[in-house]
Amino acid sequence: METRILVVEDEEKLARFIELELVHEGYKVSKAFDGRSALQMATDEQFDLILLDIMLPELNGLEVLRRLRQDDGNSTPVILVTARDAVMDKVSGLDAGAVDYITKPFAIEELLARIRVALKMHSRMMDLEAGSTIGAATADSPAESAKDGIFVWNKLVLDEKKHTVKYDGHEVNLTNREFLMLRTLLENKDIVMSRDTLLEKVCGYDYIGETNVVDVYIRFLRSKIDEVFGIKMIQTVRGVGYVIKSE
Ligand code: CA
Repeated sequence: METRILVVEDEEKLARFIELELVHEGYKVSKAFDGRSALQMATDEQFDLILLDIMLPELNGLEVLRRLRQDDGNSTPVILVTARDAVMDKVSGLDAGAVDYITKPFAIEELLARIRVALKMHSRMMDLEAGSTIGAATADSPAESAKDGIFVWNKLVLDEKKHTVKYDGHEVNLTNREFLMLRTLLENKDIVMSRDTLLEKVCGYDYIGETNVVDVYIRFLRSKIDEVFGIKMIQTVRGVGYVIKSE
């Protein structure tokens, strides 16, 4: 089955260049040159991935992403293309639901690698959502870690069997991947988890290279838990990874 990618880029030469490279890799490519037609195409057609430039005429990329996610409930993985050092764009992009971002100018190899990762993660996530999420995920879990699949930290309770997370009684809605990431951190409390380990636990495949997708999911978790409830649950260990410490 062919993989369809929508390239949204108003610099037509760059769009054409990316298209040629992607076609060469075997992807089927469609192009949009402004935000409004991108939104239209993404809504009307089924894509496996969208490469979305932020600086676009009509609607900017962040607005396209926001409308796709919020208004249409569209969950096609989106890689944002940002200008150099546009830190705010990256943050808002990830908050708006992008899976990754790449900074201009980029090497085509890097773009191809990120596309492969995003596609793999997405299909893995679809598999998880289709079925045996918990069984598959817990197969190699330490047995002593939780009583009846219940993990507790402060006022946070993760219930594996019910697949729920609550903080002080308030339900927190997590995607499967966020849930797996949180569970992995809770089950390894006080152990610093490297990005590689987290990626392997959560995505379940051998992965070499970019691990910033882990940072993206940590950011999602923090925005849904730490920021909402005013706590510091997930700690960053610079240059190593992440940890949830016992109190
Ligand atoms: Ca642009």
